This record gives sequence, C-alpha cells and structure tokens, in this order.
Amino acid sequence: MEYDIAIVGTGPGGLEAAITAKIRNKNILLLGSDNLSEKIDKGHVFENYLGLSHISGSDLNKSFLDHIKSLGIEITNEKVMNIYDMGDSFTIQAEKNMYNAKTVILATGVSFGKPYENEEQFLGRGVSYCATCDGNLYKNKKIAVIATSSKEEKEVNFLAELASDIIYIPLYKDIGKLDSKIIIKREAPVKIIGNIKVSKLVTNQAEYDVDGIFILRDAISPKTLVPGLATEEDRVIVDRNMATNIKGLFACGDIVGKPYQAIKAAGEGNIAALSAVEYLAE
Ligand SMILES: Cc1cc2nc3c(=O)[nH]c(=O)nc-3n(C[C@H](O)[C@H](O)[C@H](O)COP(=O)(O)OP(=O)(O)OC[C@H]3O[C@@H](n4cnc5c(N)ncnc54)[C@H](O)[C@@H]3O)c2cc1C
Repeated sequence: MEYDIAIVGTGPGGLEAAITAKIRNKNILLLGSDNLSEKIDKGHVFENYLGLSHISGSDLNKSFLDHIKSLGIEITNEKVMNIYDMGDSFTIQAEKNMYNAKTVILATGVSFGKPYENEEQFLGRGVSYCATCDGNLYKNKKIAVIATSSKEEKEVNFLAELASDIIYIPLYKDIGKLDSKIIIKREAPVKIIGNIKVSKLVTNQAEYDVDGIFILRDAISPKTLVPGLATEEDRVIVDRNMATNIKGLFACGDIVGKPYQAIKAAGEGNIAALSAVEYLAE
C-alpha cells in the first residue's frame, strides 16, 4: 500500500500536519509515539498557545490527542530509522515495518546531537541505530551499546540474548533491570575505530574491542534519517512552503530551526501539509 503523505513525529508540528492532511482527504500515515511529544509533556505551563491560555504541557498533549482522535487519526507507534528517496515516492524503514508514501513530512523535533568521531563513517559497517533491524548480525559477537534513555533497555536486553559479550554505556541516571550478562560502564564514548568495519570503541577511560556498536538515541539526526537532506548548523533547510531540497519531502517544527515554540511548530505543520497536498495535485 502506498500512502499519500507519511508524517514522522507526533509533536505539534506532525499532529497539525496530520490534521490538515486528513481534512484535505489524504490517505495518511502518522508515525511517532502514543505519548505524543515528551517536550510538550515536560512543559510546566504554556502561556502563549492560541485559544488555550495557561495550559499545562500534559493537558496540552491531551487536547492534541482528543483532536486527532475526533478525526479518526491513528498513531503508528514506531520509530523511523531511515527514509529513502525512490524518485517519485519514498520508502520508510521503521523499527518493525517498511512503508511507502508519495510524500513525507518530517517533524521529529530533533535537537541535533553531535555524532561521535567516525560514527557516520562506520554506519552500516558496524555502527547501527536499530537493535531489531540489525541485532541478528551480531549473534555470538562482541558488541557495545550506548543508550540515551532507559526506554532503550528492552532493546539492550534483546541484544544481550544474541551477543557473546555486551558492554553497556547508559547516558542516563537510573538503570532498570538488565540481563546479568551485560557489563555496565559509566563512561563517555569518544570515538569509533576500525578499518573496513568497526573494531574498537574508545571512551574517556578505556578502549573496547568490539564487532559492533549500537547507538540508541531518542532522536536520530535528520541527515542520518534521510540521506542527501540539506541541513545547515542545527536545522533542516526549508523554503517558505516547508519544502526541503528533496522533491516531495517537507519538514516543520523545531527541526527547521528557532524559535522553538509549539505554536510555530503547529503553524509550520499546517503549511507543510498544504504544500504536500499541492505537490500531490501536480
Ligand atoms: C521544558 C519545555 C518547556 C517548553 N515551554 C514552551 C512554552 O511555554 N511555549 C512554547 O511555545 N513552547 C515551549 N516549549 C517548546 C515546544 O515544546 C517545542 O517547540 C515543540 O514541542 C516542538 O514541536 P515539534 O512538533 O517540532 O517537535 P516535538 O514536540 O519535539 O515532537 C517530535 C516528535 O517526533 C517523534 N520522533 C522523533 N524522532 C522520531 C523518529 N525517528 N521516528 C518517529 N518519531 C520520531 C518524537 O517522539 C515526538 O513525538 C517547551 C519545551 C520544553 C522542553
């Protein structure tokens, strides 16, 4: 099945894009999280969201959810790992499934983390961002796993079932229940070394011989997500129609730059959806 518009992200940018596209009768796929946006949820009070004065982040998220539900919009609770431009359509590789869509709207709200030294160079050659996709390649091998949140611990335990040795570097405070085979290191990853493939992970305290390194971040940088996407400093480059340098690919919200504001993200989501609708009509 090919969707008209795939929307990646369930913050105000992605949700407004979904609402607008749905109202314009498009066949949409909304990928993100059932919990919508963690950023919104963390907001103590939003004072400047039109029509909803002095609203807490969790109530704002709830009103977003009520709105999309009222239109019959469903969330596909999957993290997107890659988006490939196939010429006149896109293939979207998510954690569990592949999807096809004629256009894509990126609304991942990402704040750009700096990759580790050589990370991008070894992507697909020992560096992976997805345990479900690549775990089986490391059966009975030595791996290191770096994770930015405890949400990834299920994936880490899954990898422990496969690998012969597993070093785990959690970049967060409270660690949950982990497989006894996992060796935890409270260190800071610095760089990745290898020749054709990864051979070592270097931290601020040691060097580890490994066959693979899983880097499980909440957010994937847009350049990694979409090969060939034009960015500058910490933003995806878009024009006034929210169009990126890739035909049929639009972006909105924090991902396209400051100011980081919910109402701006929603407004841009509306523009991105209308631009995608116009693109489909052409
Ligand atoms: C503490 C705090 C307080 C704030 N207070 C205010 C305020 O008072 N007023 C205001 O206007 N703004 C405020 N903001 C900013 C506001 O929350 C953001 O500007 C807004 O949420 C950006 O919306 P977005 O849609 O671009 O991205 P986000 O809200 O960040 O949503 C991004 C979504 O994309 C999903 N996602 C990311 N990567 C992937 C992937 N690979 N696959 C699938 N889904 C993915 C995430 O799960 C998330 O659902 C605050 C932010 C914080 C953190």
